[in-house]
Amino acid sequence: MAKATLLALGSNLPGLWGTPQETLARTVVEIERLGCGIVSTSPTYESASLSAGQPNYLNLVLACHTGMAPAQFLRMAKTIERRAGRRPRTKWSARALDIDIIMTGSQCLNWPRRGCGTLTLPHPESHTRAFVLRPLCDIAPHWYHPGLHVAANTLLRRLPLQSKRSLRRM
Ligand code: ATP
Ligand code: CA
Ligand code: CA
Repeated sequence: MAKATLLALGSNLPGLWGTPQETLARTVVEIERLGCGIVSTSPTYESASLSAGQPNYLNLVLACHTGMAPAQFLRMAKTIERRAGRRPRTKWSARALDIDIIMTGSQCLNWPRRGCGTLTLPHPESHTRAFVLRPLCDIAPHWYHPGLHVAANTLLRRLPLQSKRSLRRM
């Protein structure tokens, strides 16, 4: 049975699919082409990079349905990132495309463990990031974090004002 999956997309470098804006739009199409039904897509936001000296990111969140298991979905996401022109670099380096799985169903996997490279669900940092929670609240404000038992809109409200102010809706 298809599970609801929430994805956070980010881009702060041009890649093989064009500008960050074009890359995010193409990614939504590619995810659909690979058999996932897109349920909703948030507006796009511009956010300052967490790493100093990098270009700003464009971010959006989408909800889709997939019959894939999370590990298989992550492999697909990594394949899409490579096709968009992301090159393996160090963690948090600038990239043409980043696809993070915020969660799938209401499943906790390895949560709250943060082993390097271990698939963790919900994503270990989603609940701390305004550039994930703001667009998530646009499409699923009542999404409930299955590890913290707190809704997305409450998580967003609890974030420091400064991190929310640095977001710009496109
Ligand atoms: P962050 O994870 O803090 O957002 P990042 O996106 O830059 O940083 P990546 O280099 O893209 O980090 O991914 C690091 C590893 O995280 C990957 O090897 C991937 O297997 C793993 N990972 C664990 N949980 C998830 C998840 N929920 N979604 C995407 N990747 C995950
Ligand atoms: Ca990420
Ligand atoms: Ca990632």
